[in-house]
Amino acid sequence: MIYAANWKMNGDKDFVNSILSQIKDNILPNLSDGSSLILCPPTIYLSDVTDRCKNTSIQSGAQDCSAHENGAFTGEVSAQMISGTGAHWVILGHSERRQYHAENNLLLTDKLRTAHNAGLKVIFCVGEMHQHYIEGTTREILKDQLSVLNDASLANLNYIIAYEPVWAIGTGLVPALEEIDLIHQFIKTLLKDTANPPKERTVLYGGSVNPDNAKDIKSLASVDGVLVGGASLSSDKFKQICI
Ligand code: PEP
Repeated sequence: MIYAANWKMNGDKDFVNSILSQIKDNILPNLSDGSSLILCPPTIYLSDVTDRCKNTSIQSGAQDCSAHENGAFTGEVSAQMISGTGAHWVILGHSERRQYHAENNLLLTDKLRTAHNAGLKVIFCVGEMHQHYIEGTTREILKDQLSVLNDASLANLNYIIAYEPVWAIGTGLVPALEEIDLIHQFIKTLLKDTANPPKERTVLYGGSVNPDNAKDIKSLASVDGVLVGGASLSSDKFKQICI
């Protein structure tokens, strides 16, 4: 089971230092065999987190990267720079990037390519908006979002998927267990047929995962892990999700 924490733009240096100590001391030693932790702090703290996770099994990742390799792109951080910190992962396609930064399939294809060229592994996020869920067009939306993985430049891309219904993120709402299961199975079927299938078809669930619902979500055979936002900002809650 993979436990990925997306701290988004939260916390400060002291917070990051303290929660990291708690995760190393209280969660890591109690993880079940075969489980792993991926921590995605704000980019400014990525080097610190990565350094402090050296010699542990904890991996770190960025929450985004530039679509460009380098150059005059003020404020951007390249995939190469992320990889240079020793971090292994980058989250791409998060709904907050799609929503607030107008990230579309074209841009995401470029970001996936730069991440791949820099040797980063990708957590690629997909998910439908509430309107799509109501209309029953979730599968069409996911198919379209996942279609970028067919791009010829992404052969051998090392990626996993996070299924995150947009309406479940930060809202306390979660799809029924059966719905999560069916959508994860649908995604896995699509991944099998993509031009660049992953080595292992790993799909995380994300969206209001908390200590009360984690056990049931994790019990689904099609769920390979969880991507946790809000609840990962509390080491106690994150621990109850992971252990
Ligand atoms: C997320 O934004 O990736 C997420 C899953 O957030 P939350 O757990 O707060 O819903």
